Amino acid sequence: MEIIHLSAECYPVAKVGGLGDVVGALPKYQCQAGHYAKVVMPAHNTKFMHQNEWVNDYEGDIWLGSYKLHYVILKEKTHKLGFDLYCVLIDGLTNREKVYDTDDTERFLAYQIATLDWLCQWQHLPDVVHCHDHHTALVPFMMQYAHAYRRLRRVKTVFTIHNGLYQGWMGWDKAHYLPAIARGSEGLLDWGGMINPMSSAVRCADAVTTVSWSYMHELMEKAVGLEGLFRQEARKCHGVLNGIDTQIWDPAVDTYLPHHYSTEDVQAGKEKHKKEICEMFDLNPKNPLIVFIGRLVAEKGADLLAHAIGRALHETQGRVNFLVLGSGADFIENELSALKMFAKGVYNCFIGYNEALSHRLYAAADFILMPSRVEPCGLNQMYALRYGTIPMVRSTGGLQDTVKDFGEQGGFGIRFNQATEDDIVISTHRALQLYYSQDLFQAIRARIMTFDHSWETSQENYRRIYEG
Ligand code: ADP
Repeated sequence: MEIIHLSAECYPVAKVGGLGDVVGALPKYQCQAGHYAKVVMPAHNTKFMHQNEWVNDYEGDIWLGSYKLHYVILKEKTHKLGFDLYCVLIDGLTNREKVYDTDDTERFLAYQIATLDWLCQWQHLPDVVHCHDHHTALVPFMMQYAHAYRRLRRVKTVFTIHNGLYQGWMGWDKAHYLPAIARGSEGLLDWGGMINPMSSAVRCADAVTTVSWSYMHELMEKAVGLEGLFRQEARKCHGVLNGIDTQIWDPAVDTYLPHHYSTEDVQAGKEKHKKEICEMFDLNPKNPLIVFIGRLVAEKGADLLAHAIGRALHETQGRVNFLVLGSGADFIENELSALKMFAKGVYNCFIGYNEALSHRLYAAADFILMPSRVEPCGLNQMYALRYGTIPMVRSTGGLQDTVKDFGEQGGFGIRFNQATEDDIVISTHRALQLYYSQDLFQAIRARIMTFDHSWETSQENYRRIYEG
């Protein structure tokens, strides 16, 4: 089967969050399973673009309203990612250092139109066009109703929602950017008086998926106005849990790690990492280490961290370390930086994005904290499990589907119900209790490393959806 993935991000070309990880891994596993999967993304101005060789695969012109734009399809020369990677270069629009910017409507519209223009030139047609998130969400509509792309009408489309909070809304004043569409089809773009790309994809795609079943159910209850639509289209909606790329995320081979370990030497392996990280960040290596890694936004519960950590440190009399790696809202960054002054030796933070450090933290930590308000799937808890780090998670979305509380039969993590300071503090007490029950703690650690969250199962679920 030939599958074309369209996405704004793809690791290691450009990654802002989990979307990048997913689109960097799923096509590779699909190719390994015998399919022919490709990724077509905007040519962002990233390190990967400069460090690799590209060939011009195609050049063409498109119209964005009254602007004529020239585009070039660049193909990565060596197939180094395990799938064919194509980047759409539109000078001045796609080649920015930032993946997301203030004129995303125009940038991503141009990318989608150029991609469809190119696909129409192919001699054969792919079996499936798989669109990821709102930046590619107008594609299923345009494939059905834009006169210029009539040739693609019978190609199947799948739309995957990685985050339902961002829907790509734009005013009707931007409608002139779109190619000519069939009369009467405008209604499929409209939601509440605006063009809503996500709602059009939910209506026009052959199948709609999101990255866990629990999140799909949550969307049917609360989806910034689209909940009724998800319920109405329930028959074609599916939950497919993300996998993790176990060829990259494996503490036995991870190229970012200075020391490697596996289930046999998990305790010694993690101790080495913890010692180094504690030295680097001036933390007490005798204490359990709880880390937070992620975007510092309310969605992730990051606004709760500074106060909750302060209280937990006070209540436990400094018997635990906290380390935060992330960037995001200014006020959260400032609060987390200010806390350093008051909690020396047991708390620290690194404000910024650092892929290498994140890998070392998954290896060094005893626990990972995820107090998310919304978590469609969540990859951090799956990476953590693979690295023998126990997840402390709020019961929501994919966290609910992948973490079982250690108080339950067969459980291994810490779960809490509310995204509140209280629940974070209580969970910290439970983490300490578990940490000092060393036999149980070590047994859980070794066990969680063996869990299978690889892409093999998830890619098989996608195959069924493509064929369904
Ligand atoms: P989301 O896509 O909502 O941000 P996910 O859990 O799906 O959340 O994916 C987050 C990914 O981004 C993980 O690979 C995580 O390690 C990584 N990540 C997030 N913030 C940072 C950061 N500041 N430095 C390094 N990696 C980060």
